[in-house]
Amino acid sequence: MEFEVVIGLEVHVQLNTKTKMFCSCPTSFAERQNKNTCPTCLALPGALPVINEEAVKKAMMFGYAVNAQINKKSIFNRKNYFYPDLPKGYQISQFEIPIVEKGTLVIDFEDGSKKEIGITRAHLEEDAGKNIHEGNYSKVDLNRAGTPLLEIVSEPDIRSSEEAVLYLKKLHAIVRYLGISDANMQEGSFRCDANVSIRPKGDEKLYTRVEIKNLNSFRFIQKAIEYEVERQIEAWEDGVYEEEVVQETRLFDSNKGITKSMRGKEESADYRYFPDPDLLPVIIPDSFFDETKNIPELPDQKKERFIEEYGIRPYDAALITSSMETAQFFEEMLRHGISAKNAVTWLTVELSARLNKIGQSIEKSPVNADKLAQLVMRIEDKTISGKAAKDVLDYLMENDISVDETIEKLGLRQISDDSAILSMIDDILAKNEAKVEEYRSGKEKLFGFFVGQVMKASKGKADPKKVNELLKKRLGT
Ligand code: ADP
Ligand code: MG
Ligand code: ZN
Repeated sequence: MEFEVVIGLEVHVQLNTKTKMFCSCPTSFAERQNKNTCPTCLALPGALPVINEEAVKKAMMFGYAVNAQINKKSIFNRKNYFYPDLPKGYQISQFEIPIVEKGTLVIDFEDGSKKEIGITRAHLEEDAGKNIHEGNYSKVDLNRAGTPLLEIVSEPDIRSSEEAVLYLKKLHAIVRYLGISDANMQEGSFRCDANVSIRPKGDEKLYTRVEIKNLNSFRFIQKAIEYEVERQIEAWEDGVYEEEVVQETRLFDSNKGITKSMRGKEESADYRYFPDPDLLPVIIPDSFFDETKNIPELPDQKKERFIEEYGIRPYDAALITSSMETAQFFEEMLRHGISAKNAVTWLTVELSARLNKIGQSIEKSPVNADKLAQLVMRIEDKTISGKAAKDVLDYLMENDISVDETIEKLGLRQISDDSAILSMIDDILAKNEAKVEEYRSGKEKLFGFFVGQVMKASKGKADPKKVNELLKKRLGT
């Protein structure tokens, strides 16, 4: 039997507001546990929440970015559950009426095709604190309690782990481009839960889903989904689907590459949602709509502009615009007037491979955009060959030195001076008289041999185009 994979993703994005969702405590890093707290986020009796306008505006910007409906009126609810890092005994979240509903996000496949993934909703809520377990003690740190989160819920439209990763990467890029979150996955400001089920191909109904938590990298998400799909298919094939696949929350163990049952899944009724009596419904003033609708250029628009303006291939444009930093790096390179095609190659192939090797991101690249552009300029003005430029780049990755100094230091300046090349040619031809005879009597493929000899004599520094030209002249062809 053939199966279809059904995935819906819930992503929690930490909004980068200065202060918390319902109080004026800073959201910035605190050097001490429980430093960034006040009666409201500590849940002292009588302390009242006040909605953070910036968080509302940032949620609205997201709504515009995914062509969603932005609800002028939305409601904050209490989601009741008990956990030590949740001092109120409930989390303030949104339930029946979220601030953002019914959006779409487009994912692009490598072959150029596209697919729309529905965004069910995006709602505002507050984060919990952190429990820290140390030896025999468990401590509670409430610095993070009350930090604004935007929870973005997708429709179950995703059909494979690859699509899930494409969706998440696009979503990640969008919130970064909007500047509403730093979306740092390692630090937990972009967290994903994956809901996974399978069904016989052709079946329309939704089968039992499990929710996988603890996914803090794109690679883990892909691995966890793949493992889970495999587990569910096996259970089906072994006739134990009903027993083994139950609605539950599972944790991904990244060391073993497996998912493990954590707890039974709560139904929403378990949370006893009700409108928070401390907060009036949110009625967004018209001025907020005017203020937020002009969102910055998004990855898809930037991609189209790059294709149009710089004439680069759609695949390259998608690659470059998938991260805001890479796109900025690319445009900075182009400011030096180099060809876009060369900029693409040196950024996405050469620099990118070297950064991968040292496990470094583009933001922390030892070679910045100006320097890489300088290197490309030296290829374009024929000071060095493309091959030599790779050696220069290797050297620049490890040394804080200019491109021109490196070229001199490594002695890689290309020889394009006619008389220097001609004297090498004459030398080679004189040493290979017999071969010259053979060539002149018709053995044309010897031409490559002569080119090779001259290049060798120049230690690879002769301009190959010039060598070809001058050799032809000398050999009289
Ligand atoms: P909860 O908040 O309890 O997790 P939701 O109804 O908000 O439940 O759904 C959460 C996510 O689960 C959504 O992204 C939705 O698309 C997805 N989902 C719902 N049913 C299924 C299913 N059968 N298989 C896969 N994903 C599903
Ligand atoms: Mg959920
Ligand atoms: Zn506070």
